Formats: sequence, C-alpha cells, structure tokens
Amino acid sequence: MTEKSIPTITGTLTGDFAADSPILAQAGAIIRAGGLVAFPTETVYGLGGNGLDSTASKKIYAAKGRPSDNPLILHIEDDSMLYMLAEDVTDTAELLIRDFWPGPLTLVVKASSVVPKTVTGGLDTVAIRMPSHPAAAALIRAAGVPIAAPSANLSGKPSPTSASHVKEDLNGRIDMILDGGDVPIGLESTIVDVTGDVPVLLRPGYITVHDIKEVVGECLIDPAVLHKPEDGFVPKAPGMKYRHYAPKAELTIFKGGAANVAAAINEAVKKAEEEDRKARILCAGANVHFYPEHLARPMGNDEAGEMIAHELYRALRECDEQSVDVIFSESFDDNPLSEAIMNRLMKAAGYRVTEV
Ligand code: AMP
Ligand code: MG
Repeated sequence: MTEKSIPTITGTLTGDFAADSPILAQAGAIIRAGGLVAFPTETVYGLGGNGLDSTASKKIYAAKGRPSDNPLILHIEDDSMLYMLAEDVTDTAELLIRDFWPGPLTLVVKASSVVPKTVTGGLDTVAIRMPSHPAAAALIRAAGVPIAAPSANLSGKPSPTSASHVKEDLNGRIDMILDGGDVPIGLESTIVDVTGDVPVLLRPGYITVHDIKEVVGECLIDPAVLHKPEDGFVPKAPGMKYRHYAPKAELTIFKGGAANVAAAINEAVKKAEEEDRKARILCAGANVHFYPEHLARPMGNDEAGEMIAHELYRALRECDEQSVDVIFSESFDDNPLSEAIMNRLMKAAGYRVTEV
C-alpha cells in the first residue's frame, strides 16, 4: 500500500462534533465514497468504512492486516438501521437495547440480506452496536450509512485508546483520523449473542454478565471465554481465537497474595536485568511501593476497575515505545471489570501465568 500523509482532524469530545461541523461532513463524504475514517468511540478507536459496501470492508481487512474470517461490527445511530440490518430482533435483544444502547454493548443477531458477507466473514449473523460517543454518533449521521468498524489497530496489537495510537499503526493506510482525545473506557465492547432466548456472552467488556442478568435474568458464557485456547473450545466470536492485544515484549502475569507476587516479580526483574533485558512492572497503584520506582507502571487503584481498564492498552503500548523486553504484571482480578481486564491481559500474555 502506498504511503500518504493523513489529515488528522482534532477536536474535543463534544463541541467540535456538532452535526454541522465541516470536519464531520468531510469524514461522512469519505465514508460514502468508499474510504476509511478512524474515529473515537466510548470503548476504543474504530476503523470505519461504509457497512453496506463490500469493497470498503475489504479495505478495512487490508489496512489492519486482519484475517477476513474475523467479522466486523456494524455501528449504527438509530433503530431504523437496526431493523434494516437484522433479520430478527428477539425480545431478549430488545430488553438489552432498551437498557444499554447507545453504549458499549455489541449484539450478534441474524443478518438481513443487505449485510455484505465480507462484513460477517461469511456468517449468517451480524454484530451490531450503537455507540454512545458523540463523535461516533455524529459520524454515522454524517455518513448516512451503518459504519463497519473493528478496532483501529494493526491486527494483533493492543487496541488504540487515543488518536496517536491509531496514527502509530495506520498512518498512510487510511484516509482520515478524527481525533476525539482519549477514549473513556479503553476496552472493546461486550459482545453478546442474542439469536436465542438466553443471551450468550462472547467477549467480556464494560457491560458485565452481572449487568446483563439484572435486565434479562439469565446470561450464558461462551466456554471459550473462560478457557485457554489449548483447552479446545472454539470461540463463537471468531476474533477471540487470535492472540490479540499483544505488546512486542514477553508478558508474564503473576497470581497470588500481593506480597508474594511482589517478591516473585522483583526476583524476575533481577534475573531479567542480569540478562540485560529491559523490564517493566504493571501493578495496582497501591502496590507501587513494593517495586523499584523507575520500573513500576501503576494502573490505578479504583475498586470499580475502570482506571485499570482505561490504562491497560496505553501501558502495553508504552512498553513497546520504550523497547521493553519483558513485562511482569500483577493480576487484576478483584474488581467488577476483572473478567474483561483479565481476558485481554491473558491474551496479551499468551496465557503465560506464574502462580506464587
Ligand atoms: P473488534 O472490533 O476489533 O473488536 O472486532 C470485532 C469482534 O466482533 C471480533 O472479535 C469478531 O469476531 C466479533 N464478531 C463480529 N461479528 C460477529 C458475529 N457475527 N458473530 C460472532 N462474533 C462476531
Ligand atoms: Mg480489535
């Protein structure tokens, strides 16, 4: 693909994304003409193209280096787009939509005939989400079509949580980046299959199983979400089978009591330094004092897990920027977002865990 410079459009989260903004009109025109625009959502940055145009989705797979059997999510702005794209919207889906849309929840539904097979990777279902980020909503409105968008990173790298991350990965491969600053959540959407009566969680995210059960009573979990790949469960979300979200460095997760974990990590750091390998430590804010100050990367302390979720991909990308060789991470399993956080962290680590 030829290198070309991208106009990077800057703006604030809300003010500059008014419907009549010339920037959005330009971005919408690019989408309608079959081009690609990266844009902020409340979860991570998305790489958007016209969701009804199979050539545009092929361009998305090519720009990301993404395997074409890993389907895209269609981003919509109003209910009419949902009923155009979905063959069937179950009562369960309607309940979840009422409570969680617009927001960080993706629903897998039966696809209608207008959805290109390139978007669904050949499946007869399609993943649909109504983002709450004002820039995302305004872009879809400006484009006038559903926007197919996976995360705006090179395939296999951590998802982008700021426009500079998108630029690092996709500069020269896409037509425009809408810069809406840092994203609020920092992890990809929760994906739930609502083709049956009981929803099935395919990918954990900011909307938790607990949240879903409060609305519809029951929620199953795709076994592949809870197991390592070698356990042999084929994930129902095709993208979950890849080693995702990975920094260049070798990442190991340490599990156990805080003091034991700290002792084991400090030992591992010593060994790495003896081998001339550059180390970095991901830890809870409250545990920074256990570690050499210049090596510790505090991830936040909040009981809700929101800061940890927000910092995770940024911290992994920082390690790449600093040419870190080995990352030692505490495990963050004591908060409401731990399912989502540990799912991404485990994949980034290639499931390398040391129990202490
Ligand atoms: P990304 O936007 O990069 O997070 O990727 C979208 C995710 O949605 C990937 O994990 C896909 O496998 C998943 N996905 C998209 N469409 C479907 C579908 N029809 N059924 C199950 N998973 C899907
Ligand atoms: Mg992705």
